[in-house]
Amino acid sequence: GAAILFDDVGKTYPQKGAGSVMALEGISLEVPAGAITGIIGRSGAGKSTLMRMVNGLEKPTSGRITVGGRDVGAAHGAALREIRREVGMIFQHFNLLSSRTVLENVALPMEIAGVPRGQIRTRASDLVARVGLEKLANRYPAELSGGQKQRVGIARALATEPKVLLSDEATSALDPETTQTVLKLLADINRDLGLTVLLITHEMAVVRDIASHMAVIDGGRIVEAGETYDIFTTP
Ligand code: ADP
Ligand code: ADP
Repeated sequence: GAAILFDDVGKTYPQKGAGSVMALEGISLEVPAGAITGIIGRSGAGKSTLMRMVNGLEKPTSGRITVGGRDVGAAHGAALREIRREVGMIFQHFNLLSSRTVLENVALPMEIAGVPRGQIRTRASDLVARVGLEKLANRYPAELSGGQKQRVGIARALATEPKVLLSDEATSALDPETTQTVLKLLADINRDLGLTVLLITHEMAVVRDIASHMAVIDGGRIVEAGETYDIFTTP
């Protein structure tokens, strides 16, 4: 089944002064549950807008987005918070808090969600181990490499036991070798936890390497979508 469903979604941003910017138009896409789906497109294509609508950071101007069968655009308050707990997110620039250790960064979403203190400690340690950073648990972000910071970002994104993991150019700031290790970690998590992964990137190789499904967006529209294998082997 579909973990995320875009049904004829459009998004325009109002402009200061006059007019508006069309960021997305007529987006219909099924993101299969338990798979890794890549969204590829150049800068300005609308990828981040698409991503931000999945966890309700932006509302669609038209059409509908459902996550786990629930309408994100129409969700408010507790319902929206629940959807956000089910949708973890990782970012190009990691977005870690510099005043908190690795363990404390990973614990943060659980503190916000009101998880009991004792559980937070155990779970944060488990997650730090899952991403291979147990030896660095008490270090601060400034003491870590880019790849290590992204591992913290991934562990933090998993803290609320999401069903969906969104990756917004998560490897774009990393060198090719580190990119491969982070992609491998995402693939392992997808396999071991059965998590649906939606990743956006401007790098074709990233999609080709780990995504079973993909969509290409250009100028706010989907120009191609399907199984990665079929798209890359089309004559
Ligand atoms: P991508 O992630 O593919 O680079 P974006 O979703 O960031 O694309 O942007 C798509 C289009 O929407 C661009 O024309 C961009 O300038 C515009 N846009 C994005 N966010 C905003 C915003 N908050 N206000 C106005 N225009 C925006
Ligand atoms: P298995 O039984 O196959 O080992 P589990 O579902 O029990 O897999 O998960 C193993 C570990 O991963 C547990 O510590 C669990 O809390 C954690 N876990 C399970 N699902 C998620 C998720 N969506 N996000 C983060 N951690 C998870």
